[in-house]
Amino acid sequence: MERIYNFSAGPSILPLPVLERAQRELVNYADSGMSVMELSHRSELFTEIITEAERLLRELIGIPKNYKVLFVQGGASQQFAMVPMNLLNKSGKADYVNTGSWSKKAIKEAEKYGDIRVIASSENAKFTHIPTVDSSMIDREADYVHITTNNTIEGTAFHDIPDTGEVPLVADMSSNILSEELDVSQFGLIYAGAQKNIGPAGLTVVIIREDLIGKTPENCPAMLNYETHSDSGSLYNTPPTFGIYMAKLVFEWLKQAGGLKEMERMNRDKAQILYDSIEKSDLFTSPVDKGSRSIMNIPFVSTSAEADAAFIKEAKAKGLETLKGHRSVGGMRASLYNAMPIEGVESLVTFMEEFEHKYK
Ligand code: PMP
Repeated sequence: MERIYNFSAGPSILPLPVLERAQRELVNYADSGMSVMELSHRSELFTEIITEAERLLRELIGIPKNYKVLFVQGGASQQFAMVPMNLLNKSGKADYVNTGSWSKKAIKEAEKYGDIRVIASSENAKFTHIPTVDSSMIDREADYVHITTNNTIEGTAFHDIPDTGEVPLVADMSSNILSEELDVSQFGLIYAGAQKNIGPAGLTVVIIREDLIGKTPENCPAMLNYETHSDSGSLYNTPPTFGIYMAKLVFEWLKQAGGLKEMERMNRDKAQILYDSIEKSDLFTSPVDKGSRSIMNIPFVSTSAEADAAFIKEAKAKGLETLKGHRSVGGMRASLYNAMPIEGVESLVTFMEEFEHKYK
């Protein structure tokens, strides 16, 4: 069996030990004679899985007791609607920071539900940096402030979390959750689609401060109300059971690998190797301002679309796959999520040097 280095932005690489364990357990989970996919979501065995998944996530991140962890469906895109549907409940106003394609989608969706103000944007600079957000920009009456902590397509990340004072901060962390240490108390609500650092697509994780639950307008559909999922322990209806099981295996793997502190150290090392290689290259450049660079998604370009295409094709032949940049920005993008081993990044930079040597 040949595994490749998969640099996809998501769904993306998963830890091999996790896949192998799932494979071992696939047809007969814990002597039940069934796979996890066939277990009732109300069974004892599945209750153990979901309880342990939540316990491990709380332990890994250090989630305070006054926050609920919800396992829901609908992807991060559904959170673009659920956040305003649930949280626009006092002034009906919210402040958003526009840092890329996903922020724009979140803004567009929220505009259907209330009075949305974009307080900072880097759109004029093609989203190549994170704009400054200081507390004086925030409407004290806003029901929340929304940011995208890591911009998967543009390759930027917030390195300082804005201080929003009493106004709850909501963060889309789809592409950087679990990649570094996190102080949850800075946020009112965090959400993330699973298909990058958590597990397979189909599961979405929401971490929400308890006082933000239960104030949703009456006409909100039950499935889109955080209270429904909070009151039922994410078991109001059938949850994505296999995704939750896979997430639990990923959390176990993360814990064994040293937790978030160690993950952050490794992720910084991996990103540094690639950024250093881009910096010293005469062929490749990074479009992103140095102070705003993501350690998860690293876009880079060569000197022409033809050379980019040749690079992507030749890289694939070497087992370095899914390096094409998002269709909206072109060029290349290497996503270095937790499960990408340092050897994958080393192979990539070695290939970049070979390619440059050949094409210069
Ligand atoms: N936000 C960010 C930052 C993302 O990277 C993505 C997906 N790549 C989304 C939202 C949308 O996620 P989903 O496909 O789970 O709806």
